Amino acid sequence: MKNVPELFSSMVFNDTVMREKLPKDVYNSLHKTIADGSELEIAIANVVANAMKDWAIEKGATHYTHWFQPMTGITAEKHDSFISPVGDCSIIMDFSGKQLIRGEPDASSFPSGGLRATFEARGYTAWDPTSYAFIKDDSLCIPTAFCSYSGEVLDKKTPLLRSIKVISEQAVRILKLFGHTDVENVIPTVGAEQEYFLIDKELFGKRKDLKLTGRTLFGAKPPKGQELDDHYFGVIKPRVIEFMKDLNEELWKLGIYAKTQHNETAPAQHELAPIFTKVNVATDHNQLIMEMMKRVADRHGLACLLHEKPFAYVNGSGKHNNWSLVTNTGINLFDPGKIPPQENKLFLLFLCAVVKAVDEYQDLLRLSVATAGNDHRLGKHEAPPAILSIYLGDEIKSIFDSIRKATSYDPKIAGQMDSGVNVLPSFQKDTTDRNRTSPFAFTGNKFEFRMVGSSLSISEPNIVLNTIVAESLCQFADILENAIDFDNAVTALMKETITKHKRIIFNGNNYAKEWVIEAENRGLLNLKTAVDALVYYKSEKNINLFLKHKILNLAEINARFDIMLENYHKMVNIEALTMIEMVNRDIIPAVYNYLNDLSESVTKMKSIGVDNHAGIAIINKISDTVDILYEKTKQLEVSHEIMQEVRCLADELETIVGNDYWPFPTYADLLFSV
Ligand code: ADP
Ligand code: MG
Repeated sequence: MKNVPELFSSMVFNDTVMREKLPKDVYNSLHKTIADGSELEIAIANVVANAMKDWAIEKGATHYTHWFQPMTGITAEKHDSFISPVGDCSIIMDFSGKQLIRGEPDASSFPSGGLRATFEARGYTAWDPTSYAFIKDDSLCIPTAFCSYSGEVLDKKTPLLRSIKVISEQAVRILKLFGHTDVENVIPTVGAEQEYFLIDKELFGKRKDLKLTGRTLFGAKPPKGQELDDHYFGVIKPRVIEFMKDLNEELWKLGIYAKTQHNETAPAQHELAPIFTKVNVATDHNQLIMEMMKRVADRHGLACLLHEKPFAYVNGSGKHNNWSLVTNTGINLFDPGKIPPQENKLFLLFLCAVVKAVDEYQDLLRLSVATAGNDHRLGKHEAPPAILSIYLGDEIKSIFDSIRKATSYDPKIAGQMDSGVNVLPSFQKDTTDRNRTSPFAFTGNKFEFRMVGSSLSISEPNIVLNTIVAESLCQFADILENAIDFDNAVTALMKETITKHKRIIFNGNNYAKEWVIEAENRGLLNLKTAVDALVYYKSEKNINLFLKHKILNLAEINARFDIMLENYHKMVNIEALTMIEMVNRDIIPAVYNYLNDLSESVTKMKSIGVDNHAGIAIINKISDTVDILYEKTKQLEVSHEIMQEVRCLADELETIVGNDYWPFPTYADLLFSV
């Protein structure tokens, strides 16, 4: 048994290490930079860099890298060793403040969308001291932001940091009005629950589709899927437990609060939830979690699938983005605390800000999770629909109703829940949680955004969330700062907001067919595909929002739009090409091998006078199906809509062609391989 407290954060240049390794004045300057974003002087940076290097070398590091998050959605790194020649044949280990603060990677091969023309090859990375440096693979990794040489952002971190600043400023305005004059800043906190699949690595290697696209493009329905519900929270298999143990250790070393692990609904599906932390750190950590999952799986002879829908017929994977706001004085703004919620106006006003934001910017939230992979999941009765709505729970909903109607609120509605078992204490019914179908649920002290796909960076959804809620808070503050009677103004503002935006509140079943119709009647958006959603990036309302709060400029918005759309088309195209390759080079040859052997047997039997009805029937069926498959696959090159038809034909063949002949492991092999 490892000493976990000792292991935890042992590979992180965190506050404790800084305090220990840095002279006091340097530590204080650095701390100030971390706390309020003030600039770090080069003299200070030199001392910090040197201390970091010595610490990293002690831990076995030989290299350093700026670690950044380009628009690919994953992380990028370029390792340089610390060596620096002195004299003829010796070296010293060197790392300067300049190298710590700024890097100049060749940026021309990262997605830059419409910025490409002005962008050339130059770009630079700049240290984000709010996220600690860490050691991975014997390299000191320095979390950085990534910009073009002319300053346009090309990454997922810079706008996130900007959005944190903006929501902090606007939230502080409101808090001041409520008398919280001691609050200096507010930070969004996030806990991202990560779903994933684990399958046997050897079988993974036999599937071109999994290797090239992350999901299976073929595969007949297995005799057993998730219908017995015997996997969710089930006993974890020994091989998976070994993987999880190893993964936890790797994550703990990196200072990641890996906390909860369990089996998920589908066979071979699991989840890991860390304890929440500041959103920018949570974003970095989620990237590391995904990377480590893949790497640790590999060590255990497993393959980790992060795609939103690796298998048809069983649930796909998502990422629940739990989001809240906390003040530097420790108040969670979405936790009513000891004050009954109906009397806690600050809490209710912040809830109103979210309700308004989600209603006004349904399109932005939807497009922040718009990818080809996530299209397979949203609205497929395993994940929320593509329609945004908010679940508030019965209690908050009735409080809101009473505010809207200006009637008094009856708290009895949130009565006691009888567990029916005498030994269990009766507990206050949790009125806020457990609507698992809602895309955006209030869960008592935080919101849970459930539309995020499992493979996505959580950066985009949080940039949007922070910015849209900041905009609501900004409008509220503009009104309240000029109010003559503050109390009455707050009540009036809440009444107006709830009345105007009540259409977005929905406590019912989001998977129900009726909801789609009702949502349409309410005028809510239903952007079914990523492409439907992405065009809203360019709407005047959304552009104005990003410009107003200086999150993105026009060139950056255009670039992001281009990149997201291009990624979508590239992904679909790769899938189509992979399908064609698998049909022509694997499936059809396998089918003909089988046909050949089968017809030989039939001929042989006929020669000794045995009529073989089954054999002939199978031969006819297979040759008819393979003919259509061949024709349809030719059309695939021009039409992506044929993909589903091609799949069905191939899957049908899979169920009739002999097992030994089929060129890939089947769903049953893959899903029950571990
Ligand atoms: P569930 O019931 O959805 O499985 P939990 O209540 O265990 O979830 O919490 C899920 C996630 O929410 C965890 O990552 C947890 O750390 C996170 N979380 C809890 N409180 C907050 C908060 N105030 N801000 C952000 N995330 C939070
Ligand atoms: Mg959850």
